Amino acid sequence: MLIGGIEAGGTKIVCGAAEVTEEGIHILDRMRFATGRPEEAVRKAADYFKDFPIKALGVACFGPLDLRKDSATYGHIMATPKKGWEHFDLLGFFEKEIGVPAVLDTDVNGAALGEGAYGAGKGKSVVAYITVGTGIGVGLSIGGKPLHGLVHPEGGHMPVVRAPGDTYEGCCTFHRDSFLPAGCLEGYAAGPAIEKRWGEKGENLGSRSEVWEMEAFYLSQGVSQIALLCSPDIIILGGGVMHQKSLFPMVRERVKDQMNGYVHAPILDGDLSDYIVPPALGDDAGLAGACRMGYDWLKS
Ligand code: ADP
Ligand code: ZN
Repeated sequence: MLIGGIEAGGTKIVCGAAEVTEEGIHILDRMRFATGRPEEAVRKAADYFKDFPIKALGVACFGPLDLRKDSATYGHIMATPKKGWEHFDLLGFFEKEIGVPAVLDTDVNGAALGEGAYGAGKGKSVVAYITVGTGIGVGLSIGGKPLHGLVHPEGGHMPVVRAPGDTYEGCCTFHRDSFLPAGCLEGYAAGPAIEKRWGEKGENLGSRSEVWEMEAFYLSQGVSQIALLCSPDIIILGGGVMHQKSLFPMVRERVKDQMNGYVHAPILDGDLSDYIVPPALGDDAGLAGACRMGYDWLKS
């Protein structure tokens, strides 16, 4: 079945069309552009789908989002510092413009669903996906369904202990440590925090080991807390910052130390290389998940 997907991040938006089945996905085409302002971005995305006879659309977007179906602002983006995007009726726009059933979820819930259906989480019951990009987000797929509840998980904003010697106040406007006793994971460890702290984008800091040691210090706290709280079968770390592959062994080692043998499962016995993993779908995790959301929406 031909399904459209949109993965919207703080830096880039990816649109794509895929043949989706229960067991597999084949992405036929994709288009990527800078996020920019909402009016131009959604128009570009809507125009893209004119060439594809899609049956449904899944939109996996940065949050916070209103996902409560009984709410007057269902499908809207909520309080975000991203210029122009606050209160934008994303789902309403696409339903009207594209005219197919459309469903919205967070980018990370989408990626968790995509990896759960077709990637590293295939066959697993609880799949956690953490993106470390322009922001940090945590998505959870439980039995193939995204976790919502009251709103949706906002694990990127969990408070974390400050790294020794770090004087950077944090880039989260809600949780800066200049007016709180501590900041949040996103504020200290998202891509923009790396850039502001070290004066250079993460992609240009590859050889500076102190950058990645500090990054692993923060990320491992987030991963440990999710492991302890949600008991995921697998934790997938994606997003632009995780292109720095040296982070994986560093985060695993720190998580292992923090857990200190408390939780018992065979997958936790070794070096955690089967437990804390990159997305098997690579940078397609979010797009594949968005398409899967559209597929599931049609079936439901
Ligand atoms: P989005 O948040 O829009 O989904 P990404 O996940 O690509 O986008 O994240 C963009 C962030 O990732 C930027 O802050 C960028 O500096 C950072 N980044 C991209 N590549 C790397 C890399 N190789 N190493 C470290 N950071 C990177
Ligand atoms: Zn925050």
